[in-house]
Amino acid sequence: MKSFVSRLRFFPAVLLFVLPAFGADVAPSWKAGAAATDITPELPMWMAGYGARTRPGDQVAQRLHAKALALEDERGKVAVIVTTDTLGIPRLVRQAVEKRVTSQLNLPASHLIINASHTHTGPEIRVVDSLFGRQDPQRLERVLRYRQQLEDRIVQAITDALARRAPAHVAFGQAKAGFAMNRREDYTLPKGDIRSGKVPNPNGPVDHDVPVLQVTDAAGKLQAVVFGYACHNTTLDGYAFTGDYAGFAQAHLEASNPGAIALFMSGCSGDQNPHPRRDMIKGLSPLELASQHGRSLAIAVEAALQSFPRPLGSRIDAILEEVNLEYQPVPSREELQRRAQSQNRGERENAQAVLDRLDREGKLPTHYAYPIQVLRFGELTLVGLASEVVVDYSLRLKREIPGQLWVSAYNNDFMGYMPSRRVWHEGGYEAGESLTFTASSQYRGAVHPSIWAPTLEEKIVAKVHELNRRVGSAASP
Ligand SMILES: [Zn+2]
Repeated sequence: MKSFVSRLRFFPAVLLFVLPAFGADVAPSWKAGAAATDITPELPMWMAGYGARTRPGDQVAQRLHAKALALEDERGKVAVIVTTDTLGIPRLVRQAVEKRVTSQLNLPASHLIINASHTHTGPEIRVVDSLFGRQDPQRLERVLRYRQQLEDRIVQAITDALARRAPAHVAFGQAKAGFAMNRREDYTLPKGDIRSGKVPNPNGPVDHDVPVLQVTDAAGKLQAVVFGYACHNTTLDGYAFTGDYAGFAQAHLEASNPGAIALFMSGCSGDQNPHPRRDMIKGLSPLELASQHGRSLAIAVEAALQSFPRPLGSRIDAILEEVNLEYQPVPSREELQRRAQSQNRGERENAQAVLDRLDREGKLPTHYAYPIQVLRFGELTLVGLASEVVVDYSLRLKREIPGQLWVSAYNNDFMGYMPSRRVWHEGGYEAGESLTFTASSQYRGAVHPSIWAPTLEEKIVAKVHELNRRVGSAASP
């Protein structure tokens, strides 16, 4: 007759309830350290996110931060998660930071992920040589100076986080928050319907999951919390710097957990907006509304912290590779010259930028090398997609990959929207228009000669599956 305990081996789910999550008698199997640094620019400074701004930002409503969480497993393998209150992390910034931390801190590139909150009330960090640089050399000089400061401060945060490593428990949990709404037109509506257009669409796909990674010290005190949400940081516009709802969520969590550092990671929010936003609620200022959305998200994080978070086995594996994404056929010089005379400013400026690239490089690229990262922390897999990925990707990947999966976007590169096959075929802003035919493309980290080919989704999803299979195998670092 089998003993009760030996029978329990066959029912590991039961054990989860029997064993305390982090009792004082459970020795920490991780080491962790977290650090934050202020990245608020000196005023005045041009802002990023909306093409319509006519002057630099001249107020600070909330300080901006770059934060780092260093995790070390029981084999001594280290990974660092960096989060920033910025619109996007251009590849050049990622590469500059990576170069310094791989050589000075011995951190492998695959074990570093850098995320942007996509706040639209953050500083301009553009890297594309565009008209503004020629028209306003002073503005360009400010951007270059800020970029240098940002890189320095991110490296400082990583250095500090690594230096603070101490025994820790690491666990994963999840909750929901509901204020993200699909912002794309409802394509099931007939043309001319009053509800069509780029409006919040209550029937459109959303991902309301709030994944939460929590780090507690040996005594059980919360040391750091990384949380995600798939929603544009666009409650606010105007000329005051803030981290928008994500900045407020981090601030609320840090206020209610003294000593802890809260880090926000963007999800697949390319087609998601907070709703309502701006001044849509009578009697509530836009700033108060952003704070309220932040409070909703912070409460969801608190819910996840207290909903049987699962301790993660102390093992880190990571892999970072690129996948070639094809463009639609690139335009000829004659076609670009025709577009450069367009009445439409966005089309005209973009065509000129592509012509400049053609002159500089002799030919236009037929594909883009898109970075994808997979980090595994015990039983949790964190997929790090780059740039503005629409929500279909996280919904699909969570359907197709079993286990605890966290799909983040806006990592490591920032150069435009990544539509799904569905969105590509529907058309509109996130489908490709924004990549080449609007002035906003000038805000991003690359001059694309054409829109993506419709194979985009299959290429990205297949590469995630491949990396998910290979991470931690002998073939990966
Ligand atoms: Zn965006």
